[in-house]
Amino acid sequence: MKKINLLFLIILVFSGCATNPITGKSTMAFIGNNELFAMSFSQYTEFKNDNVVIIGTPEAEMIQRVGTKLVAAANKWVAAEGDPNYFRDYRWEFTLVQDNTLNAWCMPGGKVVFYTGILPVCLNEDGVAVVMGHEIAHAILNHGQQRMSGNILQQLGAIGVSLAFSGSSSETQALVMLAYGVGSQVGGTLPFSRSHESEADDIGLKLMAIAGYNPDEGAQLWQRMAAATGGGTPEILSTHPSNESRIQNLRRLAPEARQVAARF
Ligand SMILES: [Zn+2]
Repeated sequence: MKKINLLFLIILVFSGCATNPITGKSTMAFIGNNELFAMSFSQYTEFKNDNVVIIGTPEAEMIQRVGTKLVAAANKWVAAEGDPNYFRDYRWEFTLVQDNTLNAWCMPGGKVVFYTGILPVCLNEDGVAVVMGHEIAHAILNHGQQRMSGNILQQLGAIGVSLAFSGSSSETQALVMLAYGVGSQVGGTLPFSRSHESEADDIGLKLMAIAGYNPDEGAQLWQRMAAATGGGTPEILSTHPSNESRIQNLRRLAPEARQVAARF
């Protein structure tokens, strides 16, 4: 068994990398986007069937508008980096659900959910753009895929190679859901790593600036988020911890986001 694992690991190391046009970084991709996106899309459909989706209200339209503008900004960016087809397999969707939970997330492949509970903390459209930019940045940067790949590496010794191939097994499904940061809906939460959080903050602010929103709202939004702790930790803070150093970082990143936006 050990021998098989080692061989599999070697194959993974040689086959499992992907380069992101926005960061230029090469990252772990031991599970392909084909497989990951397919699981993500079916989970998203299931989520919408199980929740109250709001359609046609000014708030629902705002979520759509902000998402569409940020994706247009992302498309401009990858085209400028010479990879205009980078989002070929993404299927962007922006859904508002009736739920007082203070949360929002984006599954791999571009499936976004905002809960009505987060709207008061967003406060305005720039605030929505901060949250939207951050969440879609996790998807654009394939953070779910990297986390899954890390999990697969960890699991190799314990469960064996079959896990990586059994895309529809319940263990893999559970790992996928944890990897999304979707949270307690599926029985657990796992925070994104600090480096993934900073990267999503950075790229999210740049996307919103390219789309014409005010990147200064970034620090203010996460300050409001950190303050919204009445009655326990909001769901979104369990997967996206916010603290003073993060807020200072966002303040520092705002002028840089404006500079990037000026190129477009
Ligand atoms: Zn995050």
